[in-house]
Amino acid sequence: MKKIISFLILLSLLSSLFACGENQKDKPRSKTISSSYFNTLSVIYTYADEDGTDIEKYSAIADEVLSYYHKLFDIYFEYSDVNNIKTINKNAGKNPVKVNKDLIDFLLYCKELYTLTNGKTNVMLGSVLKIWHDLREDADDDFGYLDPAELPTEDILSEAATHTTIDLLVINEEDSTVYISDPKASLDVGAIAKGYTVDILYDRLKAEGADAVALNIGGNLRTIGLKPDSKLWVTGITNPDKESDETVKCKIKIGEASVVTSGDYERYFVSDGKKYHHIIDPTTLIPANYFASVSIITESSALADALSTALFCMPYEDGISLIKSIGGVDAIWIYKDGTVRYTEGIKLAK
Ligand code: AMP
Ligand code: MG
Repeated sequence: MKKIISFLILLSLLSSLFACGENQKDKPRSKTISSSYFNTLSVIYTYADEDGTDIEKYSAIADEVLSYYHKLFDIYFEYSDVNNIKTINKNAGKNPVKVNKDLIDFLLYCKELYTLTNGKTNVMLGSVLKIWHDLREDADDDFGYLDPAELPTEDILSEAATHTTIDLLVINEEDSTVYISDPKASLDVGAIAKGYTVDILYDRLKAEGADAVALNIGGNLRTIGLKPDSKLWVTGITNPDKESDETVKCKIKIGEASVVTSGDYERYFVSDGKKYHHIIDPTTLIPANYFASVSIITESSALADALSTALFCMPYEDGISLIKSIGGVDAIWIYKDGTVRYTEGIKLAK
């Protein structure tokens, strides 16, 4: 079910990405990378590629980058050739784990993002997220429904929350080790990992001279340059209301930028008629209840990813003051009743 939902989201995003009235001959080449990385579909689009050699080169690089970071950020599986997040979690309260610089750099940035988001995007929330994740898996076996008796009590959630302090993550840059100092604490990097990987891929492709390219890594969108003739890209923001015939809520024009959305329609289960989705407010320890989705538009995809999760977990007023304090960040909030709010920098397309 997870994959089908991601695929539909991707389709609705992509269907409008290039829908700006081009003739067939002006359409970009596209290539799907693999569905196994980050459990989702990744697609590269490029214009200005007469003989198709660029797309082959770019997708080979994307394949390499995505498979490498997929392994590094995996919280469920370990790999023989690299110590990853799972290795760090397995050694919580036991041993510091030697990791490579790529993982150290990523986790240092996650700590910065924790501070920037006032703790709303917290990669050390693993103990709490695991409770909700396991319930989702149980519900998946039962067509997405969960017996209300199985919902976690406040006591269970608050006990888990005592193992989520960011300082439990000890990063030693000199020794290149990472240690979680509490055996019940764990990392979950799902809120940032994809966006961070898209930025790495962006840098690699840019160094290859890529231009007029769009990357869509499971709905995390980042463009490189503009379309031919300096035209802006057009992308759709998914309608969170899955019962509506309109799959796209609105279309926006962007230059070289990232667009990342966090939504309540992506992964969830239903219990007693209520939806329990996958984005957990660290303050209440239950699925955040402010919006149906929040999209962030800014240059860096990692920042957009962290902020989309964070703004989803705070009231509109807090979100707007947070992004104003950062600068260069736009947002679209879609409320559960369908109301949409935009920041001033959003350029709507028809
Ligand atoms: P996103 O779709 O980018 O908002 O990320 C959601 C994923 O990040 C979830 O599937 C969890 O793995 C994780 N997550 C959920 N809530 C939080 C949170 N408040 N802070 C950090 N990670 C979270
Ligand atoms: Mg995110």
